[in-house]
Amino acid sequence: MASSVRIVLQEGEALLHGVDSPRLSAELLLAEVVGCSRLSLVVDYSRQLSSAECEQFRQLVSRRATGEPLAYIIGMKEFYGLDFQVTPDVLIPRPETEHIVEEIERLYDKDKPFHYADLGTGSGILAVTVAVLFPKATGVAADISRGALHVASSNAVRHDVANRLDFLLGDFTTRLFDEEVFDLILSNPPYVTEAEYDAASHEVTGFEPVGALVSGVDGLDHVRAMLGHVLHALKPGGYFLMEIGCDQGREVEKILTDQFPGFEPVVVKRDIAGLDRVLFARKK
Ligand code: GLN
Repeated sequence: MASSVRIVLQEGEALLHGVDSPRLSAELLLAEVVGCSRLSLVVDYSRQLSSAECEQFRQLVSRRATGEPLAYIIGMKEFYGLDFQVTPDVLIPRPETEHIVEEIERLYDKDKPFHYADLGTGSGILAVTVAVLFPKATGVAADISRGALHVASSNAVRHDVANRLDFLLGDFTTRLFDEEVFDLILSNPPYVTEAEYDAASHEVTGFEPVGALVSGVDGLDHVRAMLGHVLHALKPGGYFLMEIGCDQGREVEKILTDQFPGFEPVVVKRDIAGLDRVLFARKK
């Protein structure tokens, strides 16, 4: 049955009372159906929708009502001002991962050529965003998931950087690269503890790939396994930037200091809320 934007949004919001931000979810889903921006919808509440649009909207709302994340329903998530395709093969980009990109922007001038790796690239947000921001940089994006690499490479094509990125299927906690090939290595590895995962919301555990999130009892299995390979593949003086959990800074710093003397003293970067976010290390 045909209806107005106002009525349809009211119905959608009511059906979504059990999920985060019901009104916003309803508006974004309707914008997706109509093929316009959220803003242009909400400035014209009396706009009439066809019965096909109403039906499609109701279908999307019923998916969202089960807890399915908006990003998977829409198939898109914004990161650092760029739109990225996302599917259930990849973690949904989180805003905290933008801190790694900010650090790289502090490290290099725009016209600096450098060669980098992104370990556990997922949707490719880090690899692709760095390639977009640094037109002379070249990179390799590795992931153990074939589905994730497919999404990452389509994001590289979307942002017109596929000619400067290679994609590599492989487990980044093993030796994937030759010695001293990269100026910079980035990673947002799985770092959630098993206990944190057990306590996480259904929107995460019911839909996102567990292999991209959980890393053993203390969340650091991947970190411990990858550091030796990172040192091997970095050029002397090369940088390693990795996202860590909000309370893992001290432990990760200790692992590097005690077991990987090939790194200079490391710095844990915190966000404005004082939470550990990015490990910043440099090879001697
Ligand atoms: N920040 C993510 C979360 O809390 C975890 C991402 C990761 O493990 N790399 O859901």
